[in-house]
Amino acid sequence: MEFSAVSKETIMRNPLKDMAERRVPSEIRTDPLTGRTARICHFMKLQWEKPDFDRMVAGTETHCPFCPERIMKITPHFDPDLIPEGRLIQDDMVLFPNLAPYDALGAVATMGSRHYIPMTEITPHRISRAMTLAMAFFNRVAAAGHPEGIYHIVNWNYMPPAGSSLIHPHLQVFSSSSAPNLMREELTAAAAYMENTGHNFWDDLVATEKEREKRYLGRIGRTSWLTAYAPMGVAGDVLAVVEGAETTLELTPEDIMDIAVGLTRLMAAYDGMGIYSFNMNFFTGAAGDAHARFHLLFSPRTFFNQTLGTPDIGALRNLFNETLCMAYPEEINGLLKPAFS
Ligand SMILES: [Zn+2]
Repeated sequence: MEFSAVSKETIMRNPLKDMAERRVPSEIRTDPLTGRTARICHFMKLQWEKPDFDRMVAGTETHCPFCPERIMKITPHFDPDLIPEGRLIQDDMVLFPNLAPYDALGAVATMGSRHYIPMTEITPHRISRAMTLAMAFFNRVAAAGHPEGIYHIVNWNYMPPAGSSLIHPHLQVFSSSSAPNLMREELTAAAAYMENTGHNFWDDLVATEKEREKRYLGRIGRTSWLTAYAPMGVAGDVLAVVEGAETTLELTPEDIMDIAVGLTRLMAAYDGMGIYSFNMNFFTGAAGDAHARFHLLFSPRTFFNQTLGTPDIGALRNLFNETLCMAYPEEINGLLKPAFS
């Protein structure tokens, strides 16, 4: 397994310091699986200003479609052939069709009736319950033999910097026969890796990173947590790999709780850097994909300029899919590791 990187250096002169020479390093890393490149640069302190949450949230509950006053009145029902009762409900969590679908079987699952939950107040129990509701949907799709029941995916956009248009915490839940770009690229590359080496890439990655330690965070149950070598997020990405599981449907209730516990540890650690928003995606194989391993990516999100609403994604990322991370992932690991020890 190759962790390759190209180091570069920019030379500039500073007119404020008598034209003193300044050398600025950067590094271009290649993802060991897909060959995707990621730039490590800027090397700023990973510390952001949090916004005034009271001001940001104030009034948003009055028209929130996921609040208890509205949710059962306005959210749609599924096709009765798939879900005869219309929606899936567990206590105060509701799963219903996504009003703005991007695939045939898209759903949204609310994470309870509470409108705003600060990142550090989201408990493992709450995450586990919401993911369990998503699993109930996936199992219904699978039991129906639906043609879209190939890849079962949960995505989470928490708060506006991560792409959420609503404050109310919710998960994006969908089953699809169409693997999204990066997941498809990973599956193709992992299949090639297995053909070339006879090994599962993800098992090799976890073993290698555990031995090297510098990007390894720890293990919860059969889930291994590590900082990504070539992250996409500006404050790094964290990867969680579930040993022995190829697909989402193979996750046990214990795996779900372990994942939830790990996610809350990350939220607590990133909260200390002033981060209050993140993306989380499931990556799954299809049934029988021996080269696949269920894993998830957690990627903190921020605004580059809070007042202007400048996102942390510009032309480089949006149109080249070239990413910037503002610190070495090994240093980010050091910031996160206390949460795992
Ligand atoms: Zn709400």
